[in-house]
Amino acid sequence: MDSCNKSTRDSSPFDCLLFDLDETLYSAKIGIGEATKRNIDDFLVQECGFPVTQTKILRIELFKTYGSSLAGFACYDIDADDYHRFFTNSDRIHATKALDRLGIRDSFEQIICFETMNPNLAKSTRPDEFPVVLKPSLEAFRIAIDVAEIDPRRTLFLDDSVRNVAAGKAVGLRTALVGRSIKIKEADFVLETVNSLAQAIPEIWLGEGQRMTRTRSQMDPMLATAPIGA
Ligand SMILES: [Mg+2]
Repeated sequence: MDSCNKSTRDSSPFDCLLFDLDETLYSAKIGIGEATKRNIDDFLVQECGFPVTQTKILRIELFKTYGSSLAGFACYDIDADDYHRFFTNSDRIHATKALDRLGIRDSFEQIICFETMNPNLAKSTRPDEFPVVLKPSLEAFRIAIDVAEIDPRRTLFLDDSVRNVAAGKAVGLRTALVGRSIKIKEADFVLETVNSLAQAIPEIWLGEGQRMTRTRSQMDPMLATAPIGA
């Protein structure tokens, strides 16, 4: 899921900030990522009949090969809505809940999520009719750029995934790797947390000090969010 926050200022090098949500807009330490992995493992056992001992290996392999568990499930005829109802982290419901929990939903003009990338999936008449599109596929980025009507050269894409940042760079976006301290060649910027955005990339708000202050205060609650359970 990505959220798009457009700026209209001429002095900034960016017209739009395109944020990944999970473990970019909030810390990995609060536990959503681990809870999601446990739910995927449960789904593989309860809905697909895989042995408990194989779920972790299968989940990792699906993610490495296809970019998401659901994309890899195409050959198993698994309904996307059933999968999302079990709880994953890429549909609109999750995105809106997370942004509400963070208290920053109003800061974004648009949510680009699983449903945006895969509008025809529900109409499938066979498992492989509409391949699942998600980051880091270049097609996912092209859809996001088209839907948001943005110029990638004036859009800053922020994500905690090296693979996603590399894909974003490949389609012409400016990129920032979040949650790391060491820069990679595909990232124009690196920042340890999104809370340090104003310090790491001050040119976003050139000449707009009031907005920078407001944005920083909106970011503060993110890392203070209490850990959650599964
Ligand atoms: Mg992420």
